[in-house]
Amino acid sequence: MSTRVVVIGGGLAGMVTAAALRGRFDEIVVLERDKLPGGAEARKGVPQAVHAHLMLSGGARVIESLVPGFLDRMYAEGAHDANAPGDLVTMMTVGWMPRRRGSQFFVGASRVLLDWVVRDLVARDQRVRIHTESPVTELIGDARRVRGVRGPDGVLEADLVVDAAGRGTRAPKWLGELGVDEARTEVIDSGLAYSTRIFQAPEAARTRFPVINVQPDSRVPLPGRGGGLQPIEGGRWIVTVSGTRGGEPPTTVDGYTDFVNNQLRHPILGELIARAEPLTEVHASRSTANRRYRYDEVELPEGFVALGDSVAAFNPVYGHGMSIAAHGAFVLRAILAGGGSTREAQRAICKVGVGAWQMATGQDVHFPDVRGTRPGRLDLARRAYVDRMSLTAVSRPRVYDAMVGAFTLARPMSSLMAPGVLLDVLRGPIDPPLAGPPLSTDERRRAGL
Ligand SMILES: Cc1cc2nc3c(=O)[nH]c(=O)nc-3n(C[C@H](O)[C@H](O)[C@H](O)COP(=O)(O)OP(=O)(O)OC[C@H]3O[C@@H](n4cnc5c(N)ncnc54)[C@H](O)[C@@H]3O)c2cc1C
Repeated sequence: MSTRVVVIGGGLAGMVTAAALRGRFDEIVVLERDKLPGGAEARKGVPQAVHAHLMLSGGARVIESLVPGFLDRMYAEGAHDANAPGDLVTMMTVGWMPRRRGSQFFVGASRVLLDWVVRDLVARDQRVRIHTESPVTELIGDARRVRGVRGPDGVLEADLVVDAAGRGTRAPKWLGELGVDEARTEVIDSGLAYSTRIFQAPEAARTRFPVINVQPDSRVPLPGRGGGLQPIEGGRWIVTVSGTRGGEPPTTVDGYTDFVNNQLRHPILGELIARAEPLTEVHASRSTANRRYRYDEVELPEGFVALGDSVAAFNPVYGHGMSIAAHGAFVLRAILAGGGSTREAQRAICKVGVGAWQMATGQDVHFPDVRGTRPGRLDLARRAYVDRMSLTAVSRPRVYDAMVGAFTLARPMSSLMAPGVLLDVLRGPIDPPLAGPPLSTDERRRAGL
């Protein structure tokens, strides 16, 4: 008898899941609510795509393994291959960090290009069928087993239903209607708001330019204000600024420009965009709270799994969401291939997001008026360790490599506590952070600084 998986949502998580399950099921049906564009274009169902989306090496390598040819195609479409930390000019809480070629990277591209390339490559496989303008409205089955979904054409039966419907998923409600115990929801919300504008980079800086990042300082009792510039395809820079509750960036052009120039801890972003040509207005977003459903704590019906933002969504400034979605699809495939149940797969998927959750919420708890928690002793101790580790990383490459490896999700968070790293952190810093952004003379000249 032939087998079928139905994937709810044709975003990044849905597409990498479809790719991951090729060969395990005879038929893979993706039901997507939106009309999908035939290229790298924005659409209603993924409103966050107008903001900078860092694709980290830890996620990019997993996507490449599930969707072969992904990276080559991205670079052929004009994405930047940014070495980490070699092409990263970053001001962390403790100050400016040095640049040195490392073994990690970022794929510098717009989110719409990322989505399009993955979708286009996956859709070429005859086993995958993508139905557009096909919203799912209900799960079919009972509390022990999900047997399909209700779509626009009625019930579609399936051996496995994967919820990849993103932050706005209705699955908790649908599961409740089947009589499944409600999963605990955790929300930690710093009230972070995003404002983004895209610029045409100065001509000489279009082909190769570092990622620039100015992080907030969570040690002062003020809203966290930060920003980043990411080179993307088309010789453009996408410049996103953000602020936690009470420090939200304005959404007008004048307000945005003032925020970039005067509200960040360093004016470098303002200096750079003053020499670039604006291509868009300001786009804003507030869908940024850390939110996860603790599906690992309840007995979910067999035949149902949630991954990507539908199970755990993170404060986006850490750039982890897409990579965690890819890791989730990878784990799902591995567990099913090993004969594991969908419940086991769900527990493993929840586990995949724990490190990213800790990293995001561990910082967020310190900002004023954060909702969902207050900083406890453990949070203060963790922050003190992270600050000492960052200071040490300035002059001890082993520590910086470990931090970049964990941040890019290429290494587990536990690598930050590896004996050699711990020893270096105990020894402490040799040199202070850099006095200013480590842009080379050539980069400054090309950017017109
Ligand atoms: C402002 C912002 C900036 C971000 N920056 C980064 C970053 O730098 N790096 C990073 O890795 N992540 C970032 N993220 C997170 C990233 O956007 C998400 O983690 C990622 O989109 C998750 O993919 P997904 O497929 O789970 O969800 P989505 O991309 O949201 O896709 C969900 C899909 O499901 C469809 N859908 C919804 N309901 C239904 C239904 N009932 N039936 C059928 N289809 C349905 C939607 O139309 C959509 O296509 C950012 C998020 C925000 C908000």
